[in-house]
Amino acid sequence: MVARIAGVFDEKLTEAIANSKILVVGAGGIGCEILKNLVLTGFPQIEIIDLDTIDVSNLNRQFLFHKEHVGKSKAQVAKDSALSFNPNVNIVAHHDSVISNDYGVSYFKQFNIVMNALDNRVARNHVNRMCLAANVPLIETGTAGYAGQVELIKKGLTQCYECQPKAPQKTFPGCTIRNTPSEPIHCIVWAKHLFNQLFGEEDPDQDVSPDTEDPEAAGTAGKTALSSQQTESGNIERKSTRTWAAETNYNPEKLFTKLFGDDIKYLLSMENLWKKRRPPTPLSWDNLPGKGDAPKQHSGLPDQRVWSVNECAEVFAASCQALQTELKGRPEGDHLVWDKDDKSAMDFVTACANIRAYIFSIPLKSRFEVKSMAGNIIPAIATANAIVAGLAVLRAQGILKGEIESCTSVYLRPKVNHRGQLFVPERTLTAPNPKCYVCAPKPEVALVCNLKHLTLKDLTAAFKDGLNMQAPDATVEGKGLVVLSSEPGETDHNNQKTLEEIGLNDGCALLVDDFLQNYEVRVRLQQEDEENSWRLVTDTDAPMPGPKEEEPANGSNGAEEPKPGPSRTHHDSDSDMEIIDEDDNGEPMEKPPKRRRKEVSDEIVEIC
Ligand SMILES: [Zn+2]
Repeated sequence: MVARIAGVFDEKLTEAIANSKILVVGAGGIGCEILKNLVLTGFPQIEIIDLDTIDVSNLNRQFLFHKEHVGKSKAQVAKDSALSFNPNVNIVAHHDSVISNDYGVSYFKQFNIVMNALDNRVARNHVNRMCLAANVPLIETGTAGYAGQVELIKKGLTQCYECQPKAPQKTFPGCTIRNTPSEPIHCIVWAKHLFNQLFGEEDPDQDVSPDTEDPEAAGTAGKTALSSQQTESGNIERKSTRTWAAETNYNPEKLFTKLFGDDIKYLLSMENLWKKRRPPTPLSWDNLPGKGDAPKQHSGLPDQRVWSVNECAEVFAASCQALQTELKGRPEGDHLVWDKDDKSAMDFVTACANIRAYIFSIPLKSRFEVKSMAGNIIPAIATANAIVAGLAVLRAQGILKGEIESCTSVYLRPKVNHRGQLFVPERTLTAPNPKCYVCAPKPEVALVCNLKHLTLKDLTAAFKDGLNMQAPDATVEGKGLVVLSSEPGETDHNNQKTLEEIGLNDGCALLVDDFLQNYEVRVRLQQEDEENSWRLVTDTDAPMPGPKEEEPANGSNGAEEPKPGPSRTHHDSDSDMEIIDEDDNGEPMEKPPKRRRKEVSDEIVEIC
């Protein structure tokens, strides 16, 4: 292969490649490309890890896989296909999660370079920590649509994957979803919640009826509301939406009247909400905008046409009936799972989101647009994957040549910038953040909480969600007292006890470690009476990840929590990437404290 052809590479690189051993984590869109590049370059020893199996939707870009491979291990098939280009390579395939005891620090230490081709934060954090612990250079890659990036992570030399806190996941207050939507996405989230309330797994956090406890509406909530809907306490009577719908036999007209008529009238009665906002307009089934209109001419695909409200109501009625029939066909107590590729489910959400959007004077969207927003799909582009994988392997060569200082991050831009660049390299390596709670020599972080209220169970959540740990163990510094153990059952009996009850007080320090990640951090407890949850604070003013309140996984593409491992089971496995904000000139920003990674395919979650 290339490395063996005299004169292509200099002697030093040829030799370095011949003696190298590379680990590729992830065999998806980027992973396939990286593997192909490595094999064709002549890298002799490669290991590849991926826990996923091949799905039909991978085939348009994960070119090492073909139809007959559907359902098989990505890692194994990627290996077999790559060997067909160059049978002289020793490839070891692991159909497994990289987050496993089997791949500890000593495993990572055997490689010259680790190359990440992952699609989720959990696995990226894990490999980041393992490479720091093993002191092995990590090449981190990602794409989203036409954008992409390649970044070198090397202990003590560059910033690590976690040096800059990630932007929090995109969140919408529940009251925005239920009472005062202002963007199409608010209506889409509401419609997905409605689907779950009517046909899916009922979740009290996904209530779709007006929220009378919206602080903004205080004082007027329900005052002049429809008296028929009020109980003595002044609240809307809480009957589950599902129960109510079933009682009406999912009659579309009745459902429509409640959801898009009565509930909106109720919202209108919460006068405070509409002092500075355009009030919503309740709709009546018999008098819908667009009724009697001739179908609009549209040259594009049917899914790209925006439906009239009347058309939405027709689709709503048809999809309600279809979904009800589907639900009835299931065993008692079973429910439907929302899926963007299920016609009725997608029709239902498109219709409901658009009807609600019309009510709140929000632009309507085509079924195609709603599908992409509801499924959080950022298309994976084969060329972007190929470019990023090419850059990654060039960076690997740079490292092997001993030119690590020149292996700066490179950004692939969706469009050329004012200098005509499509690839924008950083000028220098970005130094580690000395306050990083992962790669600092002695990582430290403060946990602000109310020790009287925070339970040990909450503490575990803080370490998992806030510090991205898998299996935290915690002891009191200086005393060795075990507060949390990752061994099942060892400290579970204390789960409901507050930190105060187990004797922890303000200023107390915990040593928290995760043996899976070979990671330890000192956590100082900081009492704050007003804090009703927890937050982590480093000495920098950058915000850290906070408590999570996720939209529960419901089978959609974007809303499921990444599972530990090299890739998620959902189809668009290359869509989770990070891009660093650029300044107005299209250049990456220079100063690390100002830089924020931005994840473009974040899940939609709700808080209130
Ligand atoms: Zn760091």
